[in-house]
Amino acid sequence: REKLLEIKDLKKHFQVDKKIVLKAVDGISFSIYKGETFGLVGESGCGKSTAGRTIMRLYEASSGEVDFQGQNVHGKKSKRELKDFNRSMQMIFQDPYASLSPRMTVKDIVAEGIDIHGLVSTKKERLNRVNALLETVGLNQQHGNRYPHEFSGGQRQRIGIARALAVDPEFIVADEPISALDVSIQAQVVNLLKKLQEERGLTYLFIAHDLSMVKHISDRVGVMYLGNMAEVASSDDLYHRPLHPYTQALLSAIPVSDPEVERSREQIVIEGDVPSPTDPPSGCRFRTRCPLAMDVCANVEPEWQEYTEDHWVACHLYNDKYNDEYKARQTAQ
Ligand code: SF4
Ligand code: MG
Repeated sequence: REKLLEIKDLKKHFQVDKKIVLKAVDGISFSIYKGETFGLVGESGCGKSTAGRTIMRLYEASSGEVDFQGQNVHGKKSKRELKDFNRSMQMIFQDPYASLSPRMTVKDIVAEGIDIHGLVSTKKERLNRVNALLETVGLNQQHGNRYPHEFSGGQRQRIGIARALAVDPEFIVADEPISALDVSIQAQVVNLLKKLQEERGLTYLFIAHDLSMVKHISDRVGVMYLGNMAEVASSDDLYHRPLHPYTQALLSAIPVSDPEVERSREQIVIEGDVPSPTDPPSGCRFRTRCPLAMDVCANVEPEWQEYTEDHWVACHLYNDKYNDEYKARQTAQ
C-alpha cells in the first residue's frame, strides 16, 4: 500500500486571547493510503474539522507536518507548488449551501477551479467540462443555469462535489458531508462518493461525528478526543476489536438495530461533558470520563503506539509499564 498522506505530530492551536490557547488539534499522527477512505470521528469540538482543514492547508499548522506524496504541505513552498497542492486537495463541506455563492450560477460555481487553474482555453471547452461534471454527479446541463437556492440539500451537495471534482483532485476532505441531509438522501450521496472513488481512484478523508456514519464507507477509521487521536485501525478491527475505552463507549452507543455491531460487549456509558480544549485534563485527556481510568492516567500522557499491526492506540491499558493497576483489578474480579 502506498501512503498518500502522512500526518506527523500535527498541531493547530488558536490564541483565543492573551492567556487562553485553544488546543484544537494537539499532536496527531496517522497515515492515509492511496485510494482509501479514512473516516475521522469524534464528538463536536474534538478537533476533527480543524484537523481536516489543517491537513488541507486551509489553516497554517502550529507545528508538525502533513506530507502529501512525500512533501510537507506546510513547508515553505513556491507559488507554483502551492497551486499544485491546492489542485490536488479539495474539500466538500457539511453545509453545501453556506459554501456555495448564492449569486453565482451553478455553472460558474463548478467552473471556479477550472478558471483559477486555467484548465481550459475556450468557452466551449469550459461549458463541456462543466456539463460533464454535472452529469457525473447526477445533475444535468439545465441545472447549470440555475442558482443554489433552487436546489434541495442533496442536490446542493452534488453541486459541491462537482465543484471539488472540477480540478481533478487526488485527495478530498469531506467534512460531515451527509450530516445535514435527510437519512433517505444520505445513502445516495455516500453511494455517489463511492462511485467517484472507484472511477477516479480518489482518496477521501471522511469526517463524521459518529461511528455509524462512517462504517459503510471507511476502509480505516481514526477516533479523536479533545484534540488527540485515541485510536486508528482498519474498519474491521475498530468495529470488532476496539481497544480504547472511548471507542468502546462510542460503539456501545450505536443503536442495537445495527446487527453488524457486536453486542457481546458490556454497555459502556461515558458520563459528563467533554472538558474544554483550552484547559484539557493532565495525563490522559479522556480520564475524567473513562470508566477504566487508573492512577497513572492523571499523570502520564499515553503514548501513541502501534499495538497490533496497523492498529494504533493511545491508552495505558495497552502499555505494560503502566497497566499493573488494571491487571490487578481484573484478577480481583
Ligand atoms: Fe482510560 Fe487511562 Fe486509557 Fe486514558 S489512559 S483511556 S484514562 S485507561
Ligand atoms: Mg465540525
